[in-house]
Amino acid sequence: MDSFDAICIAVGAGQPRDIQAEGREMRGIYFAMDFLSQQNKQLLGETMQQEEIISAKNKHVLVIGGGDTGSDCVGTSIRQGAVKVTQIEILPQPPIGKNPETPWPYYPLILKTSSSHEEGCTRRWCLNTKAFIGKNGHVTEVLIEEVEWHREENGQMTMVSTGKTETVKADLVLLALGFLHPVHEGFLNELGVKYDGRGNIEVDKNGKTSVDKIFATGDSVMGASLVVRAIASGRKAAENIHHFFCHEQKK
Ligand SMILES: Cc1cc2nc3c(=O)[nH]c(=O)nc-3n(C[C@H](O)[C@H](O)[C@H](O)COP(=O)(O)OP(=O)(O)OC[C@H]3O[C@@H](n4cnc5c(N)ncnc54)[C@H](O)[C@@H]3O)c2cc1C
Repeated sequence: MDSFDAICIAVGAGQPRDIQAEGREMRGIYFAMDFLSQQNKQLLGETMQQEEIISAKNKHVLVIGGGDTGSDCVGTSIRQGAVKVTQIEILPQPPIGKNPETPWPYYPLILKTSSSHEEGCTRRWCLNTKAFIGKNGHVTEVLIEEVEWHREENGQMTMVSTGKTETVKADLVLLALGFLHPVHEGFLNELGVKYDGRGNIEVDKNGKTSVDKIFATGDSVMGASLVVRAIASGRKAAENIHHFFCHEQKK
């Protein structure tokens, strides 16, 4: 630390949201990023032990989470040679084309169909994961339940169980339920930076964390977002650090 005049943390928002359901500890259930980043490493020619490899080849794959990360899991699974890929989402299916509830300038909440989806998968909505069922410690099926979403008087949506359950065959389950905040354990906790109410790194109006000389930027501050926002945030951090140095020199 002492050998640097300023430090900028840009570690992203890598803490995945987990699922609390019976059987979660079974083999065959992975976080999306473990699967996706391994595929990238393999494409770059990195070798790994056979037992480390997460492969969708000849598998019935269930992707839990209907967002962009889930969509990347769908495409990667299909290209690896999965027998069948199913993607489930807890929220209702968004409208196709236009959504009167999100007019301009709001972000349009509409159904997104990616090239991965077009490669062929089953997409389903309003499904909650109840339990992972397996044999000899390896997942073979997932128990899911249909849910309904009711709008309360205050406009808030509440999830209601319907009691209608079914099992889906799955020997590879990929968890793509979003990201909570940056990983706290290790580096960040050791630095002692403060977090905001959502667990992201707290910064002041100058982009500085609670620790002297340490700045933070990108998803580690905003939470999981988009490349364009991360680039803008990185530029702002560079500007802030420049001002910090100018101010230090004047002292
Ligand atoms: C699967 C997936 C698909 C996405 N697709 C899109 C898309 O299509 N379009 C879009 O705009 N956005 C997309 N995003 C979001 C986008 O990737 C992020 O918003 C953006 O990359 C954030 O940039 P960042 O620099 O803050 O963090 P990141 O790009 O996450 O970079 C953080 C880096 O820090 C490294 N790191 C973590 N901890 C440490 C440590 N202790 N020491 C050293 N290095 C560390 C990480 O390994 C990582 O390489 C996607 C995200 C995911 C997960």
